[in-house]
Amino acid sequence: MYPANFDYKRPATVDEAVALLAQHGDDAKLLAGGHSLIPAMKLRLARPKVVVDIGRISNLSYIREAGGRIAIGAMTTHQEIADSKLLKDKCPLLPETASHIGDVQVRNKGTIGGSLAHADPAADYPAAILALEAEIEVAGPKGRRTIRAEDFFVDLLQTAIAGNELITEIRVPVTARTVAYVKTEQKASGFALAGVAVVLSSSGARVGVTGIGAKAYRALGVEQALGGQKSPNAIAQAATHAADGVEPLGDIHASAEFRAHLAQVNTRRAIERAAARG
Ligand SMILES: Cc1cc2nc3c(=O)[nH]c(=O)nc-3n(C[C@H](O)[C@H](O)[C@H](O)COP(=O)(O)OP(=O)(O)OC[C@H]3O[C@@H](n4cnc5c(N)ncnc54)[C@H](O)[C@@H]3O)c2cc1C
Repeated sequence: MYPANFDYKRPATVDEAVALLAQHGDDAKLLAGGHSLIPAMKLRLARPKVVVDIGRISNLSYIREAGGRIAIGAMTTHQEIADSKLLKDKCPLLPETASHIGDVQVRNKGTIGGSLAHADPAADYPAAILALEAEIEVAGPKGRRTIRAEDFFVDLLQTAIAGNELITEIRVPVTARTVAYVKTEQKASGFALAGVAVVLSSSGARVGVTGIGAKAYRALGVEQALGGQKSPNAIAQAATHAADGVEPLGDIHASAEFRAHLAQVNTRRAIERAAARG
């Protein structure tokens, strides 16, 4: 199926992109890697009148250390993140998560900014972004602002970004190697039926979960139950809280009960794996 007709704009700078969003309002959609937007347009689930292609904005694709954090441009592809030596050395959870996304084609075209903005409930990055307590920088008509990961995912396919803003940068902390991402995937697409990202530190665990509910979440019940404990029993007990307070989604790929079960199993495995890397 072909998309409905649309105008195509190709800004050279972030300011030009923001001006186009301001000019066209709800009629405009940003195009990054196109791996979520183009299928939605072909199915006529999205019918933007103006497509704003940000793929030629040169300074949106980078991975660099800045101010004790790692800054990642919004147009950086999943494969660039999976391959980054800087991230593997200083924030290994993100490349580990990126390597789980889709297939080679998806990883070479899809971008971290596009994935976060799309906020698919089964996307991989949101679990890691939450566990890392990342920051998401967006640009809009009033300049730049920073959104904390915990405030970013609002509901199914909904984020805290306004329609006239675009993500410019994602910032993640430097961490120890005691991290892990464990996912059970939907076999055809690779999307997560249950994906769990864990960051362990001396002060305890941070656990991000994707694929279970309408949006990714921090499993605070797990974090509180685990505290600083590392015994197999304590980990197994804490993991039973992985879907506390969440309404799991059921669909043709997995029932709600199965997703809740997978959340617990993958939480236990992710904590065990992270601890074993210490
Ligand atoms: C076959 C297949 C398998 C996949 N498997 C997985 C998987 O296993 N795990 C996974 O996580 N994902 C998976 N994906 C999704 C993939 O990761 C996409 O790349 C991602 O969801 C969207 O990124 P994109 O750069 O392609 O964005 P696009 O499709 O270009 O855009 C997606 C949305 O985000 C908006 N947008 C894009 N960039 C920005 C920005 N900088 N600021 C604000 N809004 C922006 C667009 O307007 C659009 O609404 C799969 C996709 C396909 C087609």
